[in-house]
Parts: sequence; C-alpha cells; structure tokens
Amino acid sequence: MYRIGLGYDIHKLTQGRDLIIGGVKITHEKGLLGHSDADVLIHAIIDAMLGALCMSDIGTLFPDSDKLYKDIDSTILLKKVYALVKEKKFVIENIDSNIIAQKPKMMPYIPKMKEVLCSILELEQDKLSIKAKTNEKMDAVGQELAIEAHAVVLLKND
Ligand SMILES: [Zn+2]
Repeated sequence: MYRIGLGYDIHKLTQGRDLIIGGVKITHEKGLLGHSDADVLIHAIIDAMLGALCMSDIGTLFPDSDKLYKDIDSTILLKKVYALVKEKKFVIENIDSNIIAQKPKMMPYIPKMKEVLCSILELEQDKLSIKAKTNEKMDAVGQELAIEAHAVVLLKND
C-alpha cells in the first residue's frame, strides 16, 4: 500500500536568529523566527509524513505552547516522526521538496542537507530531492521577509 503526504511551511526572517534549513546552518544576516529552530524544510517534510500517515500535523504533535520544544533542533522532531513512520511499518519511497527563498542561495548547502536528512531517514540520496527557487522578488518571500518550503512524501507499506 502506498500513502502520499503533502507538507508546507513558512517562517518569518528576522535579525538575531540563526538560519537553519534542512538541518544545516546557513550563513546569513537573518534567521527564521519560530518556537523551535524554525527549520522550514524539516517542518514541511514532517507535515508531509504526518499527512501520509493521516496523523494530524506538526503543531498538534509538538505544540508551541510546550516549553519542551522551545528552540529545539528540528532534526530531533524529524527523528520522532520517522519513528512513527517505522512504527506503522512504512518505509519512505521518496521525498520531493522545494525551498523558496529570495536570499541567500540555497544551492551550495543542498548536498549537506541531503546528507543530514538521508542519514536520519535511512534513505538513499537519490530518493530525496531538494530543489531551491526564489520568488522572483514577489510577495513576502520575494521581499526577503520569509522563507517557505513544500514537501511531498511517498510512503510504502507491504
Ligand atoms: Zn515551521
């Protein structure tokens, strides 16, 4: 049986925060604001996996009212959600994702993101796609006020 899931996330860019995307620290003058480390790509992937499992969403599982998740490394949340995938006897068939950021350039960091995420998700690198786009200077993302991410995950259970 196959199950597909869709995930989306957006975080505001702000001064005084580290920019962490796909588990990788990115050199930039601004970072993403959030209760956790605000790793927009990991959050989209988590929501896609939860969607495929029909198990609600990241905000319900890890509420921002809970001090436990304050500034938490999102790779820890990803490990918890991947454990749920395995508990339900699913394997990840593949993941496709987009990071949409006007600045900085994501491309140089993608190999490291793939390395970090594939290691957590026990995935071959050719099963995880991370694409980077700008928003052509339009809207909040294009005006460097926010970064967003989308992910689709296909799970298989046999
Ligand atoms: Zn988020």
